[in-house]
Amino acid sequence: MSMDRPCPKCGSTEILGDVPVVSSVDRISSTPVVALAYRRPEARIFKEPVAHRLTARVCAACGLAELYVEDPKGLALAVKEAAAAAGADRPGDEDLR
Ligand SMILES: [Zn+2]
Repeated sequence: MSMDRPCPKCGSTEILGDVPVVSSVDRISSTPVVALAYRRPEARIFKEPVAHRLTARVCAACGLAELYVEDPKGLALAVKEAAAAAGADRPGDEDLR
């Protein structure tokens, strides 16, 4: 994500990059917000979650925030694996994995 690109809403060039996006924070820890996919969404228990953190590109003038997945290729791979698994699975065999 380029820092050079101006804000698409207000045109400001004062942009904060790679701002962590968290759901909660205290003095010693924070909980990241993630983009989530499952490699085995049909499985009853072992759904094999794949989670990648979100970061924000924030305009310091107007506050517009764009969200970015840190590893979009990894997320896309998990989605493709889920689609492939759904095509290969027979009903009832998910518990054998
Ligand atoms: Zn702006």
